[in-house]
Amino acid sequence: MRHGADILVNFLKLLLGDLLDFIYPSRCGVCGRELSREDAVICAGCWQTLSCIAAPFCPRCGLPTSPLNLLCSACEVRDHVFSFARSYGPFDETFQKIIHLFKYRRKLSLSRPLAALMGATVRGDARYSPMEALIPVPLHSVKCRARGYNQSELLARDLSRITGLPLLDKVLVRAINTQSQSKLNLSARVENVQDAFRIKGSRQIQDRRIVLVDDVLTTGATADACARTLLRAGAAQVSVVTIARAVEPGASGEAKKG
Ligand SMILES: [Zn+2]
Ligand SMILES: [Zn+2]
Repeated sequence: MRHGADILVNFLKLLLGDLLDFIYPSRCGVCGRELSREDAVICAGCWQTLSCIAAPFCPRCGLPTSPLNLLCSACEVRDHVFSFARSYGPFDETFQKIIHLFKYRRKLSLSRPLAALMGATVRGDARYSPMEALIPVPLHSVKCRARGYNQSELLARDLSRITGLPLLDKVLVRAINTQSQSKLNLSARVENVQDAFRIKGSRQIQDRRIVLVDDVLTTGATADACARTLLRAGAAQVSVVTIARAVEPGASGEAKKG
């Protein structure tokens, strides 16, 4: 009977492929190894081998630099609106796979472990200590309806539980449905998101220090546009935390953010 069930499952898997994988996940989304009962989506081995960005890194944008914590070459020529940004790890092949599963394949259970990585980054950097609230980078309502969720909002919610910082998920909205940043160069990215964001209820951010939460930081154009909108509406300071950092801006593969 068990054998018969296995044959049926395998046959259906062949037939339905991705659809059944979603309902009946059995292989690690990164390395393809069979998952044990305790693992969900990604195996424990892959979680343990994730790369982490450690010092030295750029004090503004979090990009790994060498040898000291000096500004990276991009920040030397172009200042950011946010005060500083940090990312847990580089947007390498592993993080690309994980974030793709989370963002486009509805593997929502990844939110908690990914937020835990950001939590480690926030706790490990004293510059986050005075921060007072978390705000996710918003999706346009049309895109959010199509995807069914805003991945940054899920991350911010879990990060709020981890850090105890309140979540303000209704304040910043994306009023313009901008095109994806992934194929644009820096100046086009800046222009694309320049006027995309609006504030609803500025009282909640008045004189407060905000941490902006997103999945990937690439050029920082999206984060800067959000930060500018928040600062103009009265926020005292805006910093940024993301899961991953595209190490070569513009060469970010699936990064959909600026
Ligand atoms: Zn694995
Ligand atoms: Zn930098």
